[in-house]
Amino acid sequence: MTAGFEVKPGDVVRLRKQHPCGASEWQVVRLGTDIGLRCLKCQRYVLLKRSVFEQRLKAIVSSEKGEAP
Ligand SMILES: [Zn+2]
Repeated sequence: MTAGFEVKPGDVVRLRKQHPCGASEWQVVRLGTDIGLRCLKCQRYVLLKRSVFEQRLKAIVSSEKGEAP
C-alpha cells in the first residue's frame, strides 16, 4: 500500500480543521487528484487537493466496508 489512508466514496471522515458551520465530519463524494467532500451538517461541497486532504484527515468515522461499531 502506498497511500497512508484508504477511503472510498461514501465514507465519512473527520478532519482536523472544522468547517465554519461547526461540523468536522464530511462524506467522501469523489476521489481523484482532488478529493470531493460534502459537509454532513450544511451540505456544502468542497474540493481539496489530495495532499491537503491527507494532512487534514484525522479519522475515518465510518466505512462502506461495514466496519461500523
Ligand atoms: Zn459545514
